[in-house]
Amino acid sequence: MSPEENKRSWAEPYKIKMVEPVRMISRQEREKAIEEAGYNTFLLRSRDVYIDLLTDSGTSAMSDRQWAGMMMGDEAYAGSENFYHLEEAIQTYYGYKHVVPTHQGRGAEHIISQLMIKKNDFVPGNMYFTTTKLHQELAGGTFVDVIIDEAHDPEDEHPFKANIDLNKLESLIKNKGAENIPYLSIATSVNMAGGQPISMANLKEVRALTQKYGIPIIHDMTRVAENAYFIKQREEGYADVSIKDIVYEICSLTDGATMSAKKDALVNIGGFLALNDEELFRKAQNMVVIYEGLHTYGGMAGRDMEALAIGISESVDEDHIRARVGQVQYLGQKLIDAGVPIVRPIGSHGVFLDAKKILPHLSQDQLPAQSLAATLYIDAGVRSMERGVVSAGRNPETGEHNYPALELIRLTIPRRVYTQAHMDVVAESVAMVYKNREQVKGLAFDYEPEYLRFFQSRFKQIG
Ligand SMILES: *Cc1c(COP(=O)(O)O)cnc(C)c1O
Repeated sequence: MSPEENKRSWAEPYKIKMVEPVRMISRQEREKAIEEAGYNTFLLRSRDVYIDLLTDSGTSAMSDRQWAGMMMGDEAYAGSENFYHLEEAIQTYYGYKHVVPTHQGRGAEHIISQLMIKKNDFVPGNMYFTTTKLHQELAGGTFVDVIIDEAHDPEDEHPFKANIDLNKLESLIKNKGAENIPYLSIATSVNMAGGQPISMANLKEVRALTQKYGIPIIHDMTRVAENAYFIKQREEGYADVSIKDIVYEICSLTDGATMSAKKDALVNIGGFLALNDEELFRKAQNMVVIYEGLHTYGGMAGRDMEALAIGISESVDEDHIRARVGQVQYLGQKLIDAGVPIVRPIGSHGVFLDAKKILPHLSQDQLPAQSLAATLYIDAGVRSMERGVVSAGRNPETGEHNYPALELIRLTIPRRVYTQAHMDVVAESVAMVYKNREQVKGLAFDYEPEYLRFFQSRFKQIG
């Protein structure tokens, strides 16, 4: 594209052929709804939400091609044609040799954790993800964060905040012994850091280091295409490389992957475990039968696998990924212009508001991010989610809250669902909440479940 063309406005690279009406209920109804939901946006009914930015998980709009694929579902219990299409798509676009389908990402995390982690192992990774870490712990391992320090600073403008700190990683290997580190867990476009990418250069260095110690790399590739987009934009030597080729190169530097296909791969449900090692694959293939389903469907219907195979090819399309990440950048820039403290640089799948900065009158024990999410919902029916002390859970040994450095709420943009006008409405609402931030009260736990508490906890207002 010429520099002049680059300055022109851009539009979503699709036109809309089916619509789903949305509506905003009254402020009074919203106040009642969030109170009944225990101030937890996960417990709201979706019909009470106007613009749903809870998550980008399973919320994408499928294309006409994907819907056509749904009609081609081969619902055979064994050997569905759609499984072979999916396997071929994964081999073609990601290069992994073997595929075990699962119902979604955590199904794959469960299997790989149980197969590779033994009691008292350590699993290093570039910042934790909730389900990933929990499966590692349930398998007897301890997660160790080896991401660069910049990732924990919401204001640091490092272009690749998901990079691994090689010193942290190597000292862990030296202290604990390579034999107690079953694999390195690398996520692309790290969710908890604010949708931040890892660079190809860092990944190559990490590969060289881990190979020296014989430690394999398992890739959480849930948002690999978004990471590839940032590499293309920011990393030297990649401006003219296609997203497809960058994605393939990332995968080639790892030994296997878990995928929540509900994100980048543009489907409403699905996932897989991909492996290069034949023996490990055989074990995983055997295990999936116990927990998910036969090894040629793993919890997905045939039609779901077909939609996923097509979604994988669409996810690396240049126009698609530019518009997808572009929409997130558009919203983020509006908030920066309005003076709202957000995680910088703007991430790939959502905009993360810095609740610690916005609500300095609340201590972390008063759950500022949880409270901010509830307040934003009341203002204009926009649903976001907490990514702070509630999501971080408790230390399994001491029972104390984990206090993460980042206390955020995430405005997560579903793929191909909302227009630029929706983003304008969201930006106005956030600016309004920011203006009246001093009135936001803290929250306390009213009910707290044992696992992944952010999903089901209930809260009450304090002060
Ligand atoms: C969503 C997600 C998962 C878990 O996948 P599910 O499909 O929700 O089970 C794992 N890792 C990352 C980075 C995710 O965003």
